Amino acid sequence: MTTLDAAFAVTPRGILERVAIRISDGIITHISGDPISASVLIDPDVLLPGFIDVHIHGGGGADTMDATPDALRAICRAHAKCGTTTLLATTITHGESEIARALVNVADAIDAQDAFCPDGARIGGVHLEGPFIHPLRPGAQPKEHVRVPSYDEWLRHIEHSRGNIRRVTIAAEYAEARPIIEWCWKNNVTVTVGHTTISGDQLAALLNDGPLDATHLFNAMDPIHHRKPGPIPTFLTHPNAMAELIADGHHVHPDVIKMAVAAAGSGHIMAITDAMAGMGQGDGDYVLGGHPVKVAAGKALLLDGTLAGSILGMSTAANNIAAWTECDLLSLAKMTSTNAADRIGRTDIGRIDVGAKADFVRMQGGLSHVGTIIGGRAISI
Ligand SMILES: [Zn+2]
Repeated sequence: MTTLDAAFAVTPRGILERVAIRISDGIITHISGDPISASVLIDPDVLLPGFIDVHIHGGGGADTMDATPDALRAICRAHAKCGTTTLLATTITHGESEIARALVNVADAIDAQDAFCPDGARIGGVHLEGPFIHPLRPGAQPKEHVRVPSYDEWLRHIEHSRGNIRRVTIAAEYAEARPIIEWCWKNNVTVTVGHTTISGDQLAALLNDGPLDATHLFNAMDPIHHRKPGPIPTFLTHPNAMAELIADGHHVHPDVIKMAVAAAGSGHIMAITDAMAGMGQGDGDYVLGGHPVKVAAGKALLLDGTLAGSILGMSTAANNIAAWTECDLLSLAKMTSTNAADRIGRTDIGRIDVGAKADFVRMQGGLSHVGTIIGGRAISI
């Protein structure tokens, strides 16, 4: 058994001061500390729940679609260095056999559990992004592989992943998407609407039947206009909706992030990175979905200038959201960890609580990330 001390910790019951957390076998067994009323700390040594990122294509020079154990390890290590303790390995629109290889590879890694990559983030499952998206809103997804939703193909993806798909990005406006959405609602897989031409009315009708997320809200969907609102106001105001936001300042302007968080509330926003292979690597040439990508000046771009994922780490995303929205630490923990855990049906992560996994981010001196702890063990950052 070990004990972790900190000046403060952000827990579901509020912020505690003079904290001591006992950990046994990677699980939190006891928390002591004094509740404080403030929710903004000036110069804290604070433990937040480990970041959970449900949308990661790559990092550390590797991509989920590389479909090798070493590629997944490189991704898990690169993101752990930025405070991510659980991630969803995210596929891209591609041929069925390429996707199948990636799914089998992730399923094998998950079967190996904590032994797979002890110094990296845990893989909490797969986010299948595409191939069932709309050809008019591909973003950086390879258009040549986009296809109309197929229930039979969906079931084959589930089989290849051995039940590890936790989240699927789909263009929900297709009638053919409906059986897949209903399958997901029955089987606790989150449906996230993205790369889509869906209208606000279509979206509201679906949301009245069950929960839906927005894949990288604002990107790869109709923009908001005050007389032609599109789906964005519905994503931000419907009680069954949750929105991913890429908080790098390139995909969505900071003022718009602030507006989105104010409109939806911190209970309905999840920070994601949508990171690609260049994350943690620096400027250079990479590949996403079989297409060349150039990373320079903090952006990853296809040769035609389309944004192609990000090179963001979650510690920077957390800092950006805190700075741009001036939110308190309880809200920040929700948007960087707890909401994502809840959305993928996990109560054992995403919170500093007795019985949960001992996954933490340590921040000091403002909000600079100084430590990642996964299952009670410090990761070298
Ligand atoms: Zn996307």
